[in-house]
Amino acid sequence: RPKIAVLTSGGDAPGMNAAIRAITLACHSSGYSCIGFFHGYNGLIDDEWCELTPRLVNPTLQQGGTLLKSARCKAMLTSDGVKQAANTLYKHDIDALIVVGGDGSFRGMLELEKEWRGQLIGLPGTIDNDLAHCDATIGFATAVQTAASAIDKIRDTANAFERVFIVEVMGRHSGHIAFAVGLATGAEAILSFENCQPPQHDAILSELTTAITQQQQVRHGSYLIVCAENLWPGGASALQKALKERAAIDSAVCILGHIQRGGSPVVNDRLLASKLGLAAVEAVEQQQHMVMLGEIAGNVVATALNATVQDHKPVASFWLKAHRSALKGDLA
Ligand code: ATP
Repeated sequence: RPKIAVLTSGGDAPGMNAAIRAITLACHSSGYSCIGFFHGYNGLIDDEWCELTPRLVNPTLQQGGTLLKSARCKAMLTSDGVKQAANTLYKHDIDALIVVGGDGSFRGMLELEKEWRGQLIGLPGTIDNDLAHCDATIGFATAVQTAASAIDKIRDTANAFERVFIVEVMGRHSGHIAFAVGLATGAEAILSFENCQPPQHDAILSELTTAITQQQQVRHGSYLIVCAENLWPGGASALQKALKERAAIDSAVCILGHIQRGGSPVVNDRLLASKLGLAAVEAVEQQQHMVMLGEIAGNVVATALNATVQDHKPVASFWLKAHRSALKGDLA
């Protein structure tokens, strides 16, 4: 009977457990054997694995993190490491490997394909939502919810003290989280890669100081700046310093950090992960290979892994527009 293996790789994302569970249950119902490798690609290199059974995975549906653990694996960047990973898959007679991770993890699959003849299927699992060919990645909705509820609390204290707050959110090098969170919390300013490239930083600083000063003249209240991580040289505290030096504006900084990666997955992530997990096992049955399965407008769509690592998913232009009109409304 076919033997399917699963691993989770790169930054963990809420909903990875739901994906592992769906794959395990689909294998169980089709009579396939299913095992999980631990710690991302390290589990392949070190031959560290466990059998996945419904009894093991069922209680994890609503848990954040990943029962298989995740990791960055430097050895996969070497040809010896990739060969070792392939040897482990041969040793266990694996027919198909399903990897839940981001674009880096998919690059690992492109390397593995050169050394291993089994089927490779990817599922988009990253809070950053920075993978093209899917509407949302597993974990994005939860990360946005977590960050938004934290920012709602920050807003209360910012209102009470009529403070300027700079909140740094995750997203690596894309602004999906920053825009979703900023719009959902009514942030006065959203600074991200899509609207704040390095040559514009000085101009943006001027706009920001003018807007804050104007706002403080028109009405008292809080001013919330949502800033993407890795955007401002020196991070949120450098931006804080710049506001002070440029216009004597005092501000507080809050770096949300890893709380955005944890927590129980929201219902949308549980459903997305469950749908894609089942679809992954069906894709194995249909002899699909070297594809990522993503949800687009409600349908499961298979895209060549090559395309998923090359293509870029921009933040929806509607969101940029919505932010610009909110900015104008605020100053009116
Ligand atoms: P996230 O962006 O959410 O952190 P990711 O999958 O993009 O997820 P990365 O750290 O970029 O995270 O990659 C995860 C792992 O994939 C790496 O630690 C490495 O083991 C493997 N990997 C990444 N790039 C390559 C590559 N070019 N060749 C082989 N393996 C790779």
